[in-house]
Amino acid sequence: MQQDKPILIAGGGIGGLAAALGLAQKGFAVTVLERAPVLGEIGAGIQLGPNAFHAFDYLGVGDAARAMAVYVDKLRLMDAVTAEDICAIDLGNKFRERFGNPYAVVHRGDLHGVFLRACRENPRITLRTGCSVTGYEQDGSIVTVQLFSGERVTGSLLIGADGLWSRVRQQVVGDGPPRVTGHTTYRSVIPTEQMPEDLRWNAATLWAGPKCHIVHYPLSGWKVFNLVVTYHNDAPEPVAGQPVPEEEVLAGFQHVHPRAQDIIRHGTDWKLWVLCDRDPVENWVDGRVALLGDAAHPTLQYMAQGACMAMEDAVCLSHEMAARPGDPEAALEAYRQGRVLRTARIQLLSREVGLHIYHPAGAHAQLRNAIMSAKSDAEWYDTLAWLYGGTGLADGSAARAQAVAA
Ligand SMILES: Cc1cc2nc3c(=O)[nH]c(=O)nc-3n(C[C@H](O)[C@H](O)[C@H](O)COP(=O)(O)OP(=O)(O)OC[C@H]3O[C@@H](n4cnc5c(N)ncnc54)[C@H](O)[C@@H]3O)c2cc1C
Repeated sequence: MQQDKPILIAGGGIGGLAAALGLAQKGFAVTVLERAPVLGEIGAGIQLGPNAFHAFDYLGVGDAARAMAVYVDKLRLMDAVTAEDICAIDLGNKFRERFGNPYAVVHRGDLHGVFLRACRENPRITLRTGCSVTGYEQDGSIVTVQLFSGERVTGSLLIGADGLWSRVRQQVVGDGPPRVTGHTTYRSVIPTEQMPEDLRWNAATLWAGPKCHIVHYPLSGWKVFNLVVTYHNDAPEPVAGQPVPEEEVLAGFQHVHPRAQDIIRHGTDWKLWVLCDRDPVENWVDGRVALLGDAAHPTLQYMAQGACMAMEDAVCLSHEMAARPGDPEAALEAYRQGRVLRTARIQLLSREVGLHIYHPAGAHAQLRNAIMSAKSDAEWYDTLAWLYGGTGLADGSAARAQAVAA
């Protein structure tokens, strides 16, 4: 291993920074190359299952992450056509005892900030902005990254954490652009006093309707509410963060209950994304180069797990690198093997959950209501155990013990 050369990470999003932190804590020098002029995240919310908190603990930021989270009491599912409750999964003590950690919602900027502060405080991490990675070369002992500016940066390994449109993936996998799903998501964050009083629930709430849904939950110490609404309108082109008027958002929700429509009327400054994902692939590693987070396994948001998976990737990568200090290529391969099936399951299941829970109509929707309302909390916990009990490592309990001991 070229100990004098840092590990290079393309991308300083949640996945890239989590990986930088995990690797630095194992003693590796790391350089993060971020394309944007400033490190940051979009102003919206994110849901975090207990598996995210297992990852925070492993990465040494558990307390900081817990301090900025809002702990929702329930995952609440409403029928957007009738405005009736379908079910509510309790996230209280029994849930926490079962999974060893809470379910929470956070502002993306706050979460990114937790990682950014920890990275800035770690002398082994160098953070560089305005560095757009365009490709790489490797010779068996070092990797040389090309930047858009013409500069070449040399490291011992390259981790491609450069998101959905990853340049590193283009070279590792070469499977072209991501799949445009035709699902259009609109996001708004509003002050809590703008949210109808009778809907200020301490819950991650989903209103599910035919080919559309609405999600809302409180953020940032209840100062704001996150509104995310999605319309499966077969939009043909990818779009990211384009401002749109309220009328355009409402157009996809004319067929749902007035109470559900009303939520949208409280939104302001709506922005639009046309969502993409990919089919799972196995080949995330090319010698001394590996993919991580959305670059490796971009997914629809219907399991609320994309960022959680990126943080689990960071845990697994740093664990495998520490376990094989003299053989980084074997470590990358062990990381790949440890992560492919779990993330493929999320990618494929997210599509199915969108189809059968978020967006069905008629008898399909009635069947959803019948099945989901019949389940007890204990049955839900059993259903979710494979996901929320995980840490990103095959032996999660050992990882937790190791994190606590560190
Ligand atoms: C509507 C929606 C809701 C979601 N809700 C949830 C949720 O509730 N829970 C959850 O866990 N996940 C959720 N996700 C998924 C989550 O947002 C992503 O999975 C996560 O942000 C991926 O992190 P990442 O670091 O891999 O990629 P990104 O966040 O995309 O970061 C990539 C970084 O790389 C940089 N970059 C790009 N190209 C280059 C380059 N060539 N050179 C250098 N740098 C580059 C980018 O500027 C960026 O900083 C949601 C996603 C969507 C769309």
